[in-house]
Amino acid sequence: MAKVVKNVVCTFCGSLCDDLEIHIENDNITAVKKGCALSRTKYLNAREEVVPLVEGKEASFSAALEAAVEILAHARHLLVYGLSSTCSEAQAAAVALAETLGASIDSTSSVCHGPGTLAKQLVGIPTCTLGEVKNRADVLVFWGCNPVEAHPRHFARYSVLAKGLKVGGRRERKVVVADVRKTATARGADLFLQLEPNGDFEVLTALRALINGKDIVGEGAGGLTRAQLEECSRLLKEASYGVFFFGMGLTMSRGTHYNVSQALALVRDLNKYTRYSVIPMRGHGNVAGSENVLAWQTGYPFAVNFSRGYPRYNPGEFTAVDLLRRGDVDAALVVAADPAATFPGRAAAVLGEIPTVVIDPHYSATAKLARVYLPSAAAGIGAAGTVYRMDMVPLPVKKLLNLPYPSDKEILDMLREGVKKCSGSREAGSTTRKMAGTGK
Ligand code: SF4
Repeated sequence: MAKVVKNVVCTFCGSLCDDLEIHIENDNITAVKKGCALSRTKYLNAREEVVPLVEGKEASFSAALEAAVEILAHARHLLVYGLSSTCSEAQAAAVALAETLGASIDSTSSVCHGPGTLAKQLVGIPTCTLGEVKNRADVLVFWGCNPVEAHPRHFARYSVLAKGLKVGGRRERKVVVADVRKTATARGADLFLQLEPNGDFEVLTALRALINGKDIVGEGAGGLTRAQLEECSRLLKEASYGVFFFGMGLTMSRGTHYNVSQALALVRDLNKYTRYSVIPMRGHGNVAGSENVLAWQTGYPFAVNFSRGYPRYNPGEFTAVDLLRRGDVDAALVVAADPAATFPGRAAAVLGEIPTVVIDPHYSATAKLARVYLPSAAAGIGAAGTVYRMDMVPLPVKKLLNLPYPSDKEILDMLREGVKKCSGSREAGSTTRKMAGTGK
């Protein structure tokens, strides 16, 4: 039987476009309307042929679940990692499991926008929704991000090309792009600032000085001439309503959270003259949700450790790359993420050396290293739930297909029940687990 589901939320990137039309025939997706190339690839390949695996061999789902429970229940210090491509209900279940096991829990934020979150905690963030960007913003800054390729519908739906109530479209907006190379986004800018690699902090500091009516020393900063800096500060100040978007080019270049702190301080300065907001260009579909859920449940957005029975927060100590690289964890549970494809070599290799359990709809590079692979029904395709857009607006996602495996949340709940029953559960091993990760 054929049907068309309208207003589907695409969960691929942080734009979470909520207007897709998905054509379904015999429980298979046959066409995707209104999406971009990334969303078409995601939805048209939604039915991946995957099977549960234990030690690389095909197993029943219940056998794989049992093997996973064994690993988790006997770990002295477990790392729970990922959570950016699943719904917030599953993220909450992962926090509950981490707490039950005295584990460390971290999300992909720690290798993308985590420094932006630290800066937000230091400086504060004036922010807005993408609806306000569409309707009001006449100056748009894209710093260290390339939405034309990474968030392909951002321009048309929310920003540069969108026709809003107060601002008509591209001709009524000015676009500033700052990056180390001339990206596809930079090619369409009114003003392109080609920065020296790692020159962000210097340029942002110079812009703050000029905006505040002070002079700068020398004839330029961070690869830009004085004339470029002056032109940029004039354009920024002339906005009726400006929005500053930033990506990993800012959060992950030298200086990390200091760069973002300086960008937030620049926006704070601009608010003395006109109105400005900031939105981080979040990459994965629900990485913003992972920070929200962890913050609600533990008080902290990522890099949380439960080994003392209460949550502790310490980026650099409880962040996944650091825990793995130092050999501080003896097992890992990876949910809806692919660290083997993105982590530095040594940290990724450790995932193949310790017993790792992967829950993912796809047989990812991390799943190939894992001791146990549990396929799941993807959020927004085989499971309903809630996801958070890059501007922190929550959106409900629908179940579109009947897929053969449970959702991430259901699997995490089953694992939690399993470890509670298992003889090596937290109660029995609490002393050793409390010691793990503390160095005592
Ligand atoms: S821009 Fe992002 S959220 Fe929108 S359809 Fe494309 S991949 Fe999906």
